[in-house]
Amino acid sequence: MTEPERRGTIALIAHDGKKAEMVDWARACEAQLVGWKIVATGTTGRTIAEAVPSLHITCLKSGPLGGDQQVGALIAEEVLAALIFFIDPLSALPHDVDVKALTRLATVYDLPLACNPSTATLIIKGL
Ligand code: PGA
Repeated sequence: MTEPERRGTIALIAHDGKKAEMVDWARACEAQLVGWKIVATGTTGRTIAEAVPSLHITCLKSGPLGGDQQVGALIAEEVLAALIFFIDPLSALPHDVDVKALTRLATVYDLPLACNPSTATLIIKGL
């Protein structure tokens, strides 16, 4: 498998308080995103797909129901080019451990990781 095939997918996750920001970002970066395979946790993926129908998004399970861990498995399999993960720092989350697990794995695998729109834009324009 060549490097582009191995790292040809972008993962998107947004906590509930950040979904509107994720939609705004996906709209603003539609031209850069449209050529990529995209995976997203369930609610994030459906929300973006509705707002930006040109994007091809594979929806995983909802984050708290295992979707975050499905993304973690993709990081370990090294199929991701980047993880765009809009974390809500102002809300307590029942699945906070998933946040730590994902940021840890992204660090282990030296995966570009954006937790806010400005960093996400820098990454998507640099891929
Ligand atoms: P969701 O999951 O996209 O299904 O809302 C995101 C999360 O909270 O991890």
